[in-house]
Amino acid sequence: MPLSSIRQTPFWHDQVGAMPTLPDRPSAKVDVLIVGAGYTGLSAALTTARGGRSTLVVDAEDPGYGCSSRNGGQISTSVKPSLEKLTAKFGLERARGIRAEGANALRWIGEFVSREGLDCDFRRVGRFHAAHTPGHYEDLARDAEKLRQQEGIESFAVPRSEQRRQLGTDAYFGGVVFSAHCSLHPGKFHRELLRLAIGAGVEVVGQCRVGAITRSGTGFRVETVKGVVEARDVIVATNGYTTALTPWLQRRVIPIGSYIIATEELPEATIDELFPGDRIASDTCKVVYYYRASPDRRRVLFGGRVSASETTALAGAARLRQDMCRIFPQLENVALSHAWSGTVAYSFDELAHTGVQDGIHFAMGYCGSGVSMAPYLGMRAGQKVLGLAEGQTALDGLPFPTRPLYRGKPWFLPAAVAWYRWKDQRQFRKALRMT
Ligand SMILES: Cc1cc2nc3c(=O)[nH]c(=O)nc-3n(C[C@H](O)[C@H](O)[C@H](O)COP(=O)(O)OP(=O)(O)OC[C@H]3O[C@@H](n4cnc5c(N)ncnc54)[C@H](O)[C@@H]3O)c2cc1C
Repeated sequence: MPLSSIRQTPFWHDQVGAMPTLPDRPSAKVDVLIVGAGYTGLSAALTTARGGRSTLVVDAEDPGYGCSSRNGGQISTSVKPSLEKLTAKFGLERARGIRAEGANALRWIGEFVSREGLDCDFRRVGRFHAAHTPGHYEDLARDAEKLRQQEGIESFAVPRSEQRRQLGTDAYFGGVVFSAHCSLHPGKFHRELLRLAIGAGVEVVGQCRVGAITRSGTGFRVETVKGVVEARDVIVATNGYTTALTPWLQRRVIPIGSYIIATEELPEATIDELFPGDRIASDTCKVVYYYRASPDRRRVLFGGRVSASETTALAGAARLRQDMCRIFPQLENVALSHAWSGTVAYSFDELAHTGVQDGIHFAMGYCGSGVSMAPYLGMRAGQKVLGLAEGQTALDGLPFPTRPLYRGKPWFLPAAVAWYRWKDQRQFRKALRMT
């Protein structure tokens, strides 16, 4: 199949129905205005509306335009820095608190989906985190044991000889299974959040970009392309799509493109061979790959960062396909059906951040792991607006670092990605040649 016939929209979009009818214009006055209708914004809105506050969510595009309907649907513990690293920076107690927020977010999303009866293919499938060199396998196995002892994180090492029980490939050198990690259908999850928010009385308005937020009396004056809104509280939930609307935040998040391809429908036997236990998968490459079977177990969805500079979904697809076939040679003759990308927000310390700046609440910087963390921190931001003590998290009040001269355009990224990608590929090939 020629690349030009690949649909350049997320596969997930084909599996959700039409967007519900939304109001065309925002109200002129609300208690809470939220900028961004992804997981963070909608979850915050659900919380404030259920807490009795009139709530408006506006999005510059259609709700869900951002990462929240484009992601891989993989759910981990979402905190990247290790306990040691965090302890060196913040002391053991705070470090434990920060790490625990990842586990809290993972537990919370499972309970939330089940309590609200959400139809979003949520499953506790476990993750196979694969080692791309023998040395990485030893590190992983040692770290997994430490994670179990220090933080109670359930995992077990899988040597290369048993790897095919987890993933149908010989391209790795074993790995670790994190049994508590989950998967869901990102598009359905977003729609279900939207349904809950609307049901709770939230006003959601799309195609309504916010152009300015200024103080006005005890609240804020928010200028949107569809009119001015007076709001007592404002929550900014723009993550990788943060702009000069909030310059302080823009200087602290690094927008990075992430790319995914979907294969055409495959025979059941192929999916059973590649994903025998339906695990989600990722690897130890510095420029990580993440992949899985689609929830209906008909396709492979394969994601990663393919080029030093940002590129188109189609150019990304050709490179991702090559990488996918290196891991799964069984897919050499398989066509692609979809290719898409989205913009995640990294932070300079690889932590998500939430708090209040100049009176404006925010939660963002999920570093590519926001499926549970974004709605969890959105919910916590909503609780803070309601004045509830449980809104405080161990991530509140942490220094949110920036760098001198950084204004939101990551000029340093292409060189860093090119270097790490070259290193990963070299290690990968060298390790395979040695077997
Ligand atoms: C390709 C890809 C794969 C990913 N895979 C995973 C994964 O497998 N697991 C995982 O945990 N995470 C993953 N992520 C990350 C995860 O999707 C995000 O962390 C999460 O969705 C962030 O949600 P959010 O609501 O904060 O932001 P978003 O969903 O990005 O929403 C932000 C919204 O803000 C709006 N906005 C911006 N500026 C304005 C303005 N001025 N006025 C009004 N609206 C505005 C935008 O239009 C956008 O809709 C992935 C992301 C991508 C792109």
